[in-house]
Order: sequence, then C-alpha cells, then structure tokens
Amino acid sequence: MSKILKVQNLSKTYRSGEHDLNVLNNVSFDVDKGQSFAIVGPSGSGKTTLLGLCAGLDTTDDGEIWLCGESLSGLDEDGRAVLRNQNVGFVFQDFQLLPTLTALENVIVPLELRGVKNASDHGRELLEKVGLLNRAEHYPSQLSGGEQQRVALARAFSNKPSILFADEPTGNLDDDTGARIEELLFELNKEQGTALVIVTHDLELAKKTDKSIRLRSGKIEETIG
Ligand code: ADP
Repeated sequence: MSKILKVQNLSKTYRSGEHDLNVLNNVSFDVDKGQSFAIVGPSGSGKTTLLGLCAGLDTTDDGEIWLCGESLSGLDEDGRAVLRNQNVGFVFQDFQLLPTLTALENVIVPLELRGVKNASDHGRELLEKVGLLNRAEHYPSQLSGGEQQRVALARAFSNKPSILFADEPTGNLDDDTGARIEELLFELNKEQGTALVIVTHDLELAKKTDKSIRLRSGKIEETIG
C-alpha cells in the first residue's frame, strides 16, 4: 500500500451536554509514503483536532482512518500506542521537551523506550545533524526556542518514523529560525523518506509541501496538489 495515511468521511463532534460542537464534517484525504502534506485554515477550523485523530490520540465519531496500513478503529488504546511508538514522530509548537533531561537525553528517549543499543551514539549523530552537538549536555531551559525545536526534531526523527505529525512547528519562532526548522524538516523528510503532516497557518510553508488541504469550519474547502 503506497498510502501512509488515509482518511475517509471523517466527522467529529465534541459533546458537552447542550453545547455539542461539530468540529469536523465529512473530511476525506490521503497521504502517500514519503509525501509532505499540509493542513491549513483559520484558527478554530479543526486542524489540531484532525491531526490528533489521524495520530490516534483521540477517537472519531464517524468515518475511518488508516495509519500505516492499520485501521485505527480496529485498534484499542494500547494498540494505537504501539503503532505510534513504532511508526510515528511528533513535533509541537511549544517543543514539549522534558525539562529535567538534557538535550541528548531528550533525543534518545524514544530509542531507549525501544531498547535500542548505542542509543547515545545515535543521539549524538542526530544532534550533529541539527547542528547542536555542542549543546548535548544542556537542559531545555538553557536553550533558545529555535534550539529547543531542533532538539525536538532530532527526537521526533530518532526512531526513523514512517510519518511525522507537526502542529505549528514554527509557530513560536521568529522568521529566520522558523525557516531553518522548515529546512531541517524537509531535509529529514527526503533523507529518511518520512511522510510529513504539518498543521500550519503559514501559507508559504504549505506551498512547499507536495499536497495540502484548506479547512474551513471543519470542512475541506480546497485540496491543492
Ligand atoms: P484549529 O487547530 O484549527 O485552531 P481546533 O481543532 O484546535 O482548531 O479546534 C476546533 C474547535 O474545537 C474550536 O472551536 C475549539 O474550541 C474546539 N475544541 C478543540 N478541542 C476541544 C475539546 N477537547 N473539547 C471541546 N471543544 C474543543
């Protein structure tokens, strides 16, 4: 199967008594292996909700999602966690590094979880790749935002995921730093063949991806590519 992600007729409503909120409505798209894909749209249009559903972090009301060939609705929470640990990387707007671990320790967390030998050597290679080997022993609080995001990228790519989900990865960074993070994302996408699914409000970033969808009020308004 050449599709790494397939979403079919997806709908999601947040239920809270009288105030149900329909956030996604009949959304369908797919992403090929190794492809870069952007989800754009105004704030509140459902982008982050859609990303979480695709990564199996939340469950759908209607519709079906296949991630790495597995139907998410056919898996329980543990099954989805295993699928994520083996195949998926994440990058967030607020970096989400563990504050009590050094840069190197943060990068090798996913490797140690999988019992990879020589995790430390591999972690150092990745830090070198993102230009931060000289910061290996620094803690997140001692790093700038751009440096923290580079550590987060090294961590996200450390177990060579088949697909990486990034939620506004450059949203907290100045333009130059954001551009460097974008470059690294696309570099790692090409080098490792990792598919990228990026939520962004940055249309310039979306133009650099192979394919994108624009959401408005939970519906796909336009598919490009
Ligand atoms: P975007 O990422 O495009 O800004 P979101 O997916 O974060 O959009 O949110 C879409 C809508 O769903 C918003 O109105 C938001 O307030 C609402 N929402 C998001 N998460 C929840 C939740 N856990 N419970 C209830 N409503 C939510």
